[in-house]
Amino acid sequence: MAKQQTFQDKAAKAAAMKGSKCPVCGTIFQPILMVTSERSKVSQSWKFNERRVQVCKCNEKQVYA
Ligand SMILES: [Zn+2]
Repeated sequence: MAKQQTFQDKAAKAAAMKGSKCPVCGTIFQPILMVTSERSKVSQSWKFNERRVQVCKCNEKQVYA
């Protein structure tokens, strides 16, 4: 859980920089909330992770695939 906290801190910082541009494609990053599901090997139950992802033209195909 400590790792997730760190990620959220990073996401919060990234969200604070609104309108930042990707240096590669020049597109303004769009923060989206992505929900992924993972099956825990220990408990055999599904858990859902919410992630904020910065989307630009470099990664939009991977994100929306
Ligand atoms: Zn880009």
